[in-house]
Amino acid sequence: MQQCVLASGNAGKLAELSVALADFNLQLISQSEFNFAEADETAVTFVENALIKARHASAETGLPALADDSGLVVHALNGEPGIRSARYAQTTEGVKPTDEENYNKLLNNLADSEDRSAHFVCVLALVKHADDPEPLIATGRWHGSILTAPQGVGGFGYDPVFLCPQTGMSASAMGKEKKSAISHRALAVKQLRDLLG
Ligand code: IMP
Repeated sequence: MQQCVLASGNAGKLAELSVALADFNLQLISQSEFNFAEADETAVTFVENALIKARHASAETGLPALADDSGLVVHALNGEPGIRSARYAQTTEGVKPTDEENYNKLLNNLADSEDRSAHFVCVLALVKHADDPEPLIATGRWHGSILTAPQGVGGFGYDPVFLCPQTGMSASAMGKEKKSAISHRALAVKQLRDLLG
């Protein structure tokens, strides 16, 4: 089994990715098992931020590392909230806005827009070592549109306001199981599996 550090402390991501990559002889270990500070995500693209996190985790542990970066891209807003998805409605340095504050800001900013198309994106970056010149990069996109009001319970982030065209429901209302079969994360994992092939 090849050990690989997952550059995230999120237990849900660790469980999901461990199952998804189980047949590739990869043992994912959470970054929280080690004692180091998280990387600063200073870049302006998902792919660069995923790589920053993967390289940082690999440099700190001496192990191969896998990182993800994801967010919501709204076409009429020039790609906002984009890499700032988690802190879109932030007003005070260091204070993370709630999911509700973030999606309400989005609904306000889109109020006058006819174009409500958007997609979620997830980028996975896998480096064999910190200076790996050939990282594996997998990308998944889930296309849909932004509702005018939140719908459904469950999920997280922008799920209540994201309308999934395949089901005609919001990403909240469609349920976790269905979502995890068709989401941007599922598509990125599928591409990573193909690259690991
Ligand atoms: P992270 O890269 O997984 O930390 O996600 C960054 C942010 O993007 C989250 O805090 C959410 O606001 C948003 N986001 C990413 N994936 C999803 C999703 O599947 N549903 C809803 N929001 C998401």
